[in-house]
Amino acid sequence: MITLEKLEKSVQYIKGVGPKKAKLLSKMGIETIEDIFYNFPRAYEDRREIKKISTLENGEKANVKVIICGTPRTYRPRKNMSIIKLPVKDETGIMYLTWFNQDYIINNISMGDIIVISGRVKRLGNQIEMQNPIYEKYNESGKKIGRVVPIYQLTEGLTNNELTKIVEQTIDTYLSYTVDAIPQNIIDRLGLFSFNQAIKNIHFPEDRFSYKKAKERLVFEELLFLQLGLFIIKGNSIVNNKGIIFSKNDETSKLLELLPYKLTSAQTRVFNEIARDMESPKQMNRLVQGDVGSGKTIIAVLSMLKAFNSGYQSVMMAPTEILATQHYESIKTLLDKFNICCELLTSNIAGKKKADILSRIETGEVNIIIGTHAVLQENVSFYKLGLAITDEQHRFGVRQRATLSLKGSNPDILVMTATPIPRTLALILYGDLEVSIIDELPAGRKKIKTYAITGEMKERAYSFVREQVNKGRQAYIVCPLVEESDSINAQSANELYENLKSSTFNDLRLGLLHGQMKSLEKDNIMAEFKNGQIDVLVSTTVIEVGVNVPNANIMLIENAERFGLAQLHQLRGRVGRGNHQSYCILVNESKSRISKERMHIMEKTNDGFLIAEKDLQTRGPGEFFGTRQHGLPDLKIANLFSDINTLKISQKIAFQILEKDPNLTSEDYRIIKERILKLFNKESQLISFN
Ligand code: ADP
Ligand code: MG
Repeated sequence: MITLEKLEKSVQYIKGVGPKKAKLLSKMGIETIEDIFYNFPRAYEDRREIKKISTLENGEKANVKVIICGTPRTYRPRKNMSIIKLPVKDETGIMYLTWFNQDYIINNISMGDIIVISGRVKRLGNQIEMQNPIYEKYNESGKKIGRVVPIYQLTEGLTNNELTKIVEQTIDTYLSYTVDAIPQNIIDRLGLFSFNQAIKNIHFPEDRFSYKKAKERLVFEELLFLQLGLFIIKGNSIVNNKGIIFSKNDETSKLLELLPYKLTSAQTRVFNEIARDMESPKQMNRLVQGDVGSGKTIIAVLSMLKAFNSGYQSVMMAPTEILATQHYESIKTLLDKFNICCELLTSNIAGKKKADILSRIETGEVNIIIGTHAVLQENVSFYKLGLAITDEQHRFGVRQRATLSLKGSNPDILVMTATPIPRTLALILYGDLEVSIIDELPAGRKKIKTYAITGEMKERAYSFVREQVNKGRQAYIVCPLVEESDSINAQSANELYENLKSSTFNDLRLGLLHGQMKSLEKDNIMAEFKNGQIDVLVSTTVIEVGVNVPNANIMLIENAERFGLAQLHQLRGRVGRGNHQSYCILVNESKSRISKERMHIMEKTNDGFLIAEKDLQTRGPGEFFGTRQHGLPDLKIANLFSDINTLKISQKIAFQILEKDPNLTSEDYRIIKERILKLFNKESQLISFN
């Protein structure tokens, strides 16, 4: 009987791994025997084909079976340098092998030995050479040459050969002790490789087919664990998806009549989709994706009005206080005529006022609650929650959203985002979530003109700001992102503010906004900016999300090269919200080609989806989506873009498993359960079972 314990043992138990190597492995995050199994190769080299000397071409990587046909000669061209030169041949020709500073090789081989070599071919005239080839004796061959070899991520002091040997040793000694986490019936049903087969073939693939099967199995298992974990975090909400049936009869068309504009056809389509979901007996689980400025807020308001008309409360959660406050104010005004009671709830509302709001939420007197994370607190209990909305969802973790929906009994769920999420990630995060896309901006919007400039041109940009201010417009100046530290960023905003105030803009009304300010201060500044009492707002990225001041028409970003493209796009989305021509000025202080290219993308396009895609190409998915932020464990082998089919299968299986055994109590799922706990609880206590 085995067990997992054995696999949890330190790598030092593996033959050939001493404290020194263990330390190197640990540097790469490999601590246990199991970690060795899961340290998948980053690439492979196919060394199966054995060539003849006469066919070798200059520069190619090749494997050749040869016989040593002369004695090795050693040269010492310099101190500390030795070269071994060895003639070898096959039936088609002769060639020379050279090794630098590897004198010991002489002792390992002798004339007449048959060896297999692998390396890069060098042709000098008629002479063929291979420098520092890998070799093995023919009768012992098939380990390094003659097969597909894994290429691993390495750390200084550890060679690929050494690591390969360690993996091989580990597989030989320990793989047979493992028990498959996935029950046999699932393996049979899906025709999957067993764990043992998969691990063997992912490291040392027998052929292309076995490699594909190995990968399929490991991707499946990774996604299955992820999916099960997420379902459990969400309180198995997917298993029980009966929802509220909201009435068709509502006042949304009345609200539409009161608006100073007409909905775009994309907005109308999306709201119709939402209304259909809300009226159906199934719980709504919908993501609204729309570029900045596409008008998502009104969609939320219409949905909340609809919920109200059926006698339900709604809650809307925003990631920042500024945004929550802004939503609160505009929504309150919009819904004024409908006899709806709205309240704002943030962590800064405290004491008696808070107690009063909380009790009125509980009695149902408050119909719509708008707030920050504060709405998730335990002391917030609703009278009859029917609709939970999260705005700018990418700012929230999986668990936060789940907590919100658990505050009611299966309230309808609406999440809104300006960040395009690949369909696969959306599926992972939300299960059977449906996606609505607002792919149209309100009419009359002028395209924001974007200019990337160098630091030397900044004074001219400042004059341009002044010109616009003289015309009655307002501007944002976003100061460089120093690092992920609120206090340092605040400091740099402060410096810029003082600087501009005492020189360039000493006659203008300047405001300062950063994350370290008290929320009352922030609110005041935002209110002043909105009311036109501030001309130029110097800010950190706290204004990144959602802020809406239509009169502001310039967004000047200092050290724009330090921001991600998606972030620049979000910032740019703060302007271009009214009828004035708007401008985005990107001050690029870097001379690098890559940042110039990135700035150029910003100049060329206003399409957030395209920008997100470019961002993905330059930064990679992990960084882009901040999987950490989502509360997701890192993916080792599954790919969010290409593994969508396996994902769907794993989702179905996860669903079936939980339907039968919601707490994974059966012996069949014991190992799966252990793995999920390990996966999700690495950093925080995310999951617990009943
Ligand atoms: P986002 O999708 O970025 O959240 P908002 O909901 O903040 O966008 O809307 C941006 C601005 O556009 C707001 O001032 C809003 O009143 C306005 N707006 C929304 N829909 C329309 C429309 N169909 N026509 C004109 N203006 C609109
Ligand atoms: Mg918004």
